[in-house]
Amino acid sequence: MFFLGGMQRRLHVSPRLQGKWRRAVIALARPARNRAGRPDLLLRENFSTEPMTPPEKRPISILLAAPRGFCAGVDRAIQIVEQAIRKWGAPVYVRHEIVHNRHVVERLEALGAVFVEELHDCPEDRPVIFSAHGVPKAVPAEARRREMIFVDATCPLVSKVHVEAERHYEAGHEIVLIGHAGHPEVIGTMGQLPPGAITLLETVADAETYMPRDPARLSFVTQTTLSVDDTAEMVGVLQRRFPSIAAPHKEDICYATTNRQDAVKAMAEQSDLVLVIGSPKSSNSVRLVEVAKRAGARDARLVGSADEVDWSWFDGAQSVGVTAGASAPEDLVEGLIAAIASRYDARVEEVRVTKEDVVFKLPRILAE
Ligand code: SF4
Repeated sequence: MFFLGGMQRRLHVSPRLQGKWRRAVIALARPARNRAGRPDLLLRENFSTEPMTPPEKRPISILLAAPRGFCAGVDRAIQIVEQAIRKWGAPVYVRHEIVHNRHVVERLEALGAVFVEELHDCPEDRPVIFSAHGVPKAVPAEARRREMIFVDATCPLVSKVHVEAERHYEAGHEIVLIGHAGHPEVIGTMGQLPPGAITLLETVADAETYMPRDPARLSFVTQTTLSVDDTAEMVGVLQRRFPSIAAPHKEDICYATTNRQDAVKAMAEQSDLVLVIGSPKSSNSVRLVEVAKRAGARDARLVGSADEVDWSWFDGAQSVGVTAGASAPEDLVEGLIAAIASRYDARVEEVRVTKEDVVFKLPRILAE
């Protein structure tokens, strides 16, 4: 006995789900058709064509966090690479992964982008783009010295932190940066000022033991993609120990990081399992996993795409939360939902905490 074609698919669609998602899940609900356009049949050894009753699929509820996925800074960085290739032709060099997502990088490579780690890997006669995470000042300075065409795709919200750090430095302050060692954004921010001007603090224990040269002339800035709650704890320690420490004018953790963490908190408590689509290199994606666990999800996992799901994680799960980090494209979310719906009788419901309408302009050099 063998099967020909796929199993019957059944899916409930929440009336609150609109547009593309509603069409996608309804498409999954249609029975699979064979080449003659008839529903698939189970063919028995004697080639009888009796219709087969497919096995019942276990119901599962999918809570889809919103906002999720691409932020305005990532969207802008990708557009910069695409527009640069249109303007100058391929190859266009990109220093460091433009955003931390393999699928995005591979798609841009196919268009003609060449990703390198350092500026000295780029030829002088081709344009180079600096990634959304920001770069130390020495990098554009070197590009200018070599008379290269370069486009800075640093997210404007990261640039804002750079400007803040410089302002504190010019005021004669010692600066604390709350962030993760080795992350390109931290390397970029520390590289805005001379060595020793910024001290990196990674943990509450660091904040408890840090000794500034002069507590009366102290400021802090933060990485944009941190856990809101962890950072608040560290800031609390610094403000208790150094009451006159100068804070950023406006929160450094960006709107996209905050909104994605709020959306995960809203759905994690009702989720047996939360799946976050993102790269282990993506700080905001890794934070979403931590936030989901802390907000009450029984389990939370980071996956690059549906291919990385271990389906044993679903054992006993009745509701699964799905979200994506700021560098993960929506088609990976769609692929994950489709993979779940092919195995379970899935009901999809969006859990939205806010709407986003932030758009950043492209650098002027691309319009010239
Ligand atoms: S996560 Fe925030 S800071 Fe980073 S690129 Fe997106 S908007 Fe900019």
